[in-house]
Amino acid sequence: MPFTLPDLPYPPTALEPHISARTLEFHHGKHHKAYVDKANAAIAGTPLEPLSAEAITYRAHVEGNAALFNNAAQAWNHSFLWQSMRPAGGAAPSGLLAEALDRDLGGVAGFNTAFKEAAVGHFGSGWAWLVHDHETLKIITTHDADTPLVHDGLTPLLTLDVWEHAYYLDRQNLRPDYVEAWLAHLVNWEFAATNLHAA
Ligand code: FE
Repeated sequence: MPFTLPDLPYPPTALEPHISARTLEFHHGKHHKAYVDKANAAIAGTPLEPLSAEAITYRAHVEGNAALFNNAAQAWNHSFLWQSMRPAGGAAPSGLLAEALDRDLGGVAGFNTAFKEAAVGHFGSGWAWLVHDHETLKIITTHDADTPLVHDGLTPLLTLDVWEHAYYLDRQNLRPDYVEAWLAHLVNWEFAATNLHAA
């Protein structure tokens, strides 16, 4: 089937104390798995079945198939999320990415301030992203399952899930604490740099 549940790239305890094993196990093993299973069930036996997960997500977006799009995009967004974090992350990026952050967002300090404001200020469920948009780095948020993958010209570099299921077990309603901890300790700048080089 085109949608698969990847293994987490680290043990479930690896992001503690910032994100608990309990949260990661529910988030990956229940929420992410459900999106993968529902996306596969929705395309089973249809002409979409031989396509890649990315192509199916794009087709669902273009055709306005919200039920399929929501599960397909969430499957992709969560796979991207696990790689956007790492144990002992959050240190400064280097090279091309550091130069681009300096040029477009006021360096890492400017990024941290603007990303926190965007992630905390996003109303309801969704995602905060660092994206490459036609030669410029930008911070954007998307609602619910929406993903830069289907918006022409945008290359996602990093994402943070701001759905309550991402932090509620650990922090209840305190989204700002979750965002701050992610920025300070978990950001995987190497992953962002790899995505930028590919853009
Ligand atoms: Fe999530």
